[in-house]
Amino acid sequence: MNFFAAMADSIRQSLTPCILCHSPSRYGLCQACQDQITNTQAPRCHRCGNLLTQAVQSSELLCGDCLKDPPAFDATVTVTDFVPPVDQMVHMLKFQHRLAVAPVMGRLLYQAMTARHIQPDLLTAVPLSRERLAERGFNQSHEIARTLGKLLKTAPQRSLLHRIRDTERQSDIALQARKKNVHQAFAVSDEGKTLVKGRHIAVLDDVMTTGSTLDEVAKVLKQAGASQITNLVFARTPKHLTGNTYV
Ligand SMILES: [Zn+2]
Ligand SMILES: [Zn+2]
Repeated sequence: MNFFAAMADSIRQSLTPCILCHSPSRYGLCQACQDQITNTQAPRCHRCGNLLTQAVQSSELLCGDCLKDPPAFDATVTVTDFVPPVDQMVHMLKFQHRLAVAPVMGRLLYQAMTARHIQPDLLTAVPLSRERLAERGFNQSHEIARTLGKLLKTAPQRSLLHRIRDTERQSDIALQARKKNVHQAFAVSDEGKTLVKGRHIAVLDDVMTTGSTLDEVAKVLKQAGASQITNLVFARTPKHLTGNTYV
C-alpha cells in the first residue's frame, strides 16, 4: 500500500457512520444532516429559546412571554427545534439507548453556546428521578453534558441538584399541568450550596417543552445564591406546539 492509499485508508477508518443517514462522518453526524438540523435562521428569544416572530421581536430579543412574566433563568441556548429528524435523535438516545448519539448532541450544543459566547462557571444536568434512572440506566442529559464538559474543559457537576420527589413523566401529562408537577421537585445539595454562590450555572436538558422543569431548577439554584442561570437544551419544542410557554 502506497503512502496515499494508507492515508486514505486511515481517514476512512477514522470516519463513523452518520447516525441519521449512515454516510461517512467525522463525529457521527454528516455535514448535510448537521446543516438540515441547524439551518434555522430566525432569531430566538434570548431568555427562553423560542423562535421570535416579526411581531414580537424586540431590540433585546425577548419574546412577549418573557417580557410579561420573566422566568427564573436568564438565558437559553438551543441547537434546534424539536421537529423531525431531531425527534428521532432524542428517541434513539432515550428509548433505544444509543449512547453514541449523546456526544453528537454535546458537540452541537458546544457550537451553539460558543457562538453566543456563553461562559458558565459550572455545568450540571437536570437530574432524573431515582425511579426513571433505574428504568433507563442512565441520565441522557448527563451523557450529553459529559461531551460538553470535555470540550469546555469543565467536568459536569453530577451532585449539585437532587430530585426530592418523584414526579409524573412530563411527557405523560397535559401541558397545563406540568408546572404543578415539577413544583418543589428539586433541591440543591449541601455540596451544591457551597459551589453555586455567586456563580453562573449552565443547566443541561435534552428537550425543553414548556420550560417548567428548567424554571423550577433555576428557582432553586437562584435561591441557593447562583448569580446567573443559562439553560443548554439540545432541542426546543416550537411554541405553537406548547401553547403558552410557562403554563
Ligand atoms: Zn447524515
Ligand atoms: Zn422568551
